[in-house]
Amino acid sequence: MNKFNLEQIIRPNIKKLTPYSSARDEFSGVAEIYLDANENALGSIGSADNHRYPDPMQKELKEGLAKLEDINPANIFLGVGSDEIIDLLIRAFCFPGRDKTLIMPPTFGMYEVSSQINDIEVLSVPLKSDFSVDEEAVWSAIRDEKLKLIFFCTPNNPSGSLVNPDFILQIARNFRGLVVVDEAYADFAETVSLTKYHDQYPNLVILKTFSKAWGLAAIRLGMGFMSESIVKILNKIKQPGNISTPTQLLALQALDFVEEKQKKVDLIVAERNQLAIELTKLSYVETVFPSQANFLLVRFNQARAVYSYLAQNQIITRDRSKTPGCENCLRITIGTPAENRKLLKELKSFTKDQEGEL
Ligand SMILES: *Cc1c(COP(=O)(O)O)cnc(C)c1O
Repeated sequence: MNKFNLEQIIRPNIKKLTPYSSARDEFSGVAEIYLDANENALGSIGSADNHRYPDPMQKELKEGLAKLEDINPANIFLGVGSDEIIDLLIRAFCFPGRDKTLIMPPTFGMYEVSSQINDIEVLSVPLKSDFSVDEEAVWSAIRDEKLKLIFFCTPNNPSGSLVNPDFILQIARNFRGLVVVDEAYADFAETVSLTKYHDQYPNLVILKTFSKAWGLAAIRLGMGFMSESIVKILNKIKQPGNISTPTQLLALQALDFVEEKQKKVDLIVAERNQLAIELTKLSYVETVFPSQANFLLVRFNQARAVYSYLAQNQIITRDRSKTPGCENCLRITIGTPAENRKLLKELKSFTKDQEGEL
């Protein structure tokens, strides 16, 4: 039996809230003359025409996405990146100063930051040293009555590891609160997406983004797939025009190029697998962690020195060596084939430099 009851976990003030009603909410049909929203009727300054407020419910884009994901548009919520959806979920369901969220570090930093901004205590069940989930510890953590939201990141950032989907669903069946599954990197992984399971699991929220596989990080667009009741709650508290018209148009255009997206994903995955093999051959590389994402987490025998050496040679990686569980690790995003070759070339000359010093 599912223990989840939406009415019991929504914050009472959000439940009572009468949302701000924008001009576009009150009239969404087609007319000749719009004098309802204090826009500039003479048009935009600059070359593009953007003088009207955006569609607050992103109807056309949601219809396009619904087709692509084979789900109902009413089960989609769009945010300014997944980051906004994470923040809205915490604000809608976690009572400040009382409720808690659960993360499995090392993981994506926004879950903790958004929780802290909202004065929500963060419970941590660290991943094991091979970055697998400590399932027993998660089972005992969900007994906490104040726990409202669990964040699963799969593939996980920064480890690139997967969380067993069956485990996530078992937790969803047995948890009173919401289970958020961040699938930002799912396009690069060989695993099932849980997108469709929001139908059977009313407490499941799946997050995806245009920032990674779609190559559209600049437009700031994140997607959430969830029950219609949760979508309605998030709609109540979001800013009316959170997704700008240029963003909606660019995303809608991108939906016509799914094959191009798949080609890029395939190339990145092939480069990732090749790069992992090459990195393993370097004497000062200790571990290349298996990755299902568009990056590799690599343990060196002296990560900071490698980081500095690469930076001096115009290559910036992410130093994760101060993160518990990621000691001596750099996170390296997969670049273009030429960039990856340059990376390998520099790493090979780093070995020589080191040997020269010894
Ligand atoms: C990059 C990333 C995102 C995407 O965030 P946006 O706000 O959509 O750009 C979400 N989750 C994880 C784990 C990420 O690494």
